[in-house]
Amino acid sequence: MAAPAVPLPEPIRNPEIKYTQLFINNEYVDCVSGKTFPTINPSTGEKIIDIQEGDKADIDKAVEAAKEAFKDSSPWRQMNASTRGVLLNKLADLLERDRLYISSLEVMDNGKPFRDMYLNDYSMILNTIRYYAGWTDKICGKTIPVDGPFFCYTKHEPVGICGQIIPWNFPLAMLSWKIAPALACGNCVVLKPAEQTPLTALYIGTLIKEAGFPPGVVNIVPGYGPTAGAAISSHPDINKVAFTGSTEARQLIMEAAAKSNLKRVTLELGGKSPNVVFADADLDFAAEMSHQALFYNMGQCCTAGSRTYVQEEIYEEFTKKLINRAKNRVVGDPLDTKNESGPQIDEEQYKKILSLIESGVKEGAKLECGGKAVEGKGYFIEPTVFTGVTEDMTIGKQEIFGPVQQILKFKTMEEVIEKANNTSYGLAAAIFTKDLGKAVTFTNKVKAGTVWVNIYNWITAQSPFGGFKMSGVGRELGEYGLAQYTEVKNVIINPMAK
Ligand code: NAP
Ligand code: MG
Repeated sequence: MAAPAVPLPEPIRNPEIKYTQLFINNEYVDCVSGKTFPTINPSTGEKIIDIQEGDKADIDKAVEAAKEAFKDSSPWRQMNASTRGVLLNKLADLLERDRLYISSLEVMDNGKPFRDMYLNDYSMILNTIRYYAGWTDKICGKTIPVDGPFFCYTKHEPVGICGQIIPWNFPLAMLSWKIAPALACGNCVVLKPAEQTPLTALYIGTLIKEAGFPPGVVNIVPGYGPTAGAAISSHPDINKVAFTGSTEARQLIMEAAAKSNLKRVTLELGGKSPNVVFADADLDFAAEMSHQALFYNMGQCCTAGSRTYVQEEIYEEFTKKLINRAKNRVVGDPLDTKNESGPQIDEEQYKKILSLIESGVKEGAKLECGGKAVEGKGYFIEPTVFTGVTEDMTIGKQEIFGPVQQILKFKTMEEVIEKANNTSYGLAAAIFTKDLGKAVTFTNKVKAGTVWVNIYNWITAQSPFGGFKMSGVGRELGEYGLAQYTEVKNVIINPMAK
């Protein structure tokens, strides 16, 4: 992600939690059922606090608030497009003001290293909101020279009420990717944060209000996927659902969207992204990039370079570099800024990752380092590297979403392209080479929404992000991302009519 240029302060240990209620109509309210659920600190495995648990009744309330805010006569619909940009910029300024507090809150709830949150996630969040703030009054239609004596133009109108369901791996960054384009286009939002990471999303409610967004424009309802999430995807008055998460949930969401009201669906899912290193690459640079491509954010990146393909003639030398780097990765308290990795998000993911490591050993891959849980509290796992992985092994096919690197061997371009594409996913891919011809051949032939050449995970607000095949539907970010939040209206006028 884009490089930051701000100094790193000391994090706040145990930041005060100000909001645990749902945010509806610019107010914090209890849920209808009176139920709560705990949010856990993954660094300790201990409960942080109980959160009000939204479900269908609360989603209904949030949708009613959003519908009111979306009425033709409402302040939001009457607002100049440029003023929406002012409000989004104000929101970014408030987020910048509270950067230390919010970053510390996110680290407590999610376990990601403070330095990654404060520098990388946060730069992405501010850049995304400011990028879309600039678009609000530049969303233009066309005039079209249609057949006949008619005047034809298109208008891009907001879709309406947007349900947004976000994951736990980049909680606030995913919130910014969802709400910024939605609001830039003039929509209203009902957002459900992941059950594991509700705290920063709830805090943002107060900033939405302080920035001056009218009541009901943004509503935030924490809760579980099968209840609150399903209520969003099946709601008859929600016009669009945007989701980031697992393939399993995606299928349920598409089905519910189809069965309820054919709401528009955009999906950002997982991957098993190939990262291909040719013998002619700058090997030290490629090794560091390949390491970060997998281990950044404890392997919990949908774009993780989780199939590291190394060309035969450098296989021994290059894998040694990767193994040494993984052995030296510093794992520990995410608040300690010397640590590169923190814990996995929760016990369920932690157990799933450990059982996938076992399957790698059983199926004959060579465990080169790591492979175990780190002793003590919390959900820490040692950086793990497997060599001798093949595509038919479970760890060669399945998304692990953890700190487990799979190294595979290849000989030729033709072979590696075929292997790279032999997956149901298509989110990202990368190639490391000094040969422009190889780079162009690979970028042309690989089936992935983003292809990096001699870089990895460079994701910015300005360019589109999304998946081919089972990695997604639609695109987020950039100008392409806006298209998902407007309906195109074609207007044809007969200028001769009396
Ligand atoms: P998940 O279940 O897909 O969760 C993502 C979001 O969808 C959460 O807000 C979740 O709610 C919600 N959700 C779950 N079931 C739903 C349903 N039936 N209807 C509507 N919403 C629903 O993902 P997870 O269980 O947290 O993680 C499992 C796997 O998902 C990971 O191993 C990884 O493969 C993938 N994943 C991908 C990304 C990505 O960036 N592409 C991010 C996270 C996870 P609750 O969790 O609050 O119940
Ligand atoms: Mg938590």
